[in-house]
Amino acid sequence: MSLSDELYKEIILEHSQHPSHRGALNNPTVVEDGVNRSCGDEVQIHLKIEDGIITEVGVNGHGCSISTASASLMADAIEGMKVNDVKDLIIKFKKMVTEDVEIEFPEDLEDLGALSGVKKFPVRVKCATLSWNTLEQAIKDYSN
Ligand code: ZN
Repeated sequence: MSLSDELYKEIILEHSQHPSHRGALNNPTVVEDGVNRSCGDEVQIHLKIEDGIITEVGVNGHGCSISTASASLMADAIEGMKVNDVKDLIIKFKKMVTEDVEIEFPEDLEDLGALSGVKKFPVRVKCATLSWNTLEQAIKDYSN
């Protein structure tokens, strides 16, 4: 079951005003920068990866409410997850905001569904995917 649009709006508002996991990590395994030039959003993702698990996430940068909320929701979702599961989640999230399909997330990740509405606003899709594309690149760098 998906949450109501009203609740989705509240989740985005809450995460844009009080983003999670702000700040750099002391000993990050990988750091990746991302920019969305069409809106001016900038993000820097810090990851600490131990034994194939993302144990800590730090988010720097600034941007619009959608990019900020998306990075915050992402950070909450991936901390404690296996890198391989995160790869699947990135695909799922991007599918949700770019394709006309209903995506179901497990209960502990269902807040991510709050961003499903951005697919109606193509300009905002880049805002919503910025942190996820940056995360994808960070994982690629880590894997190489
Ligand atoms: Zn933006």
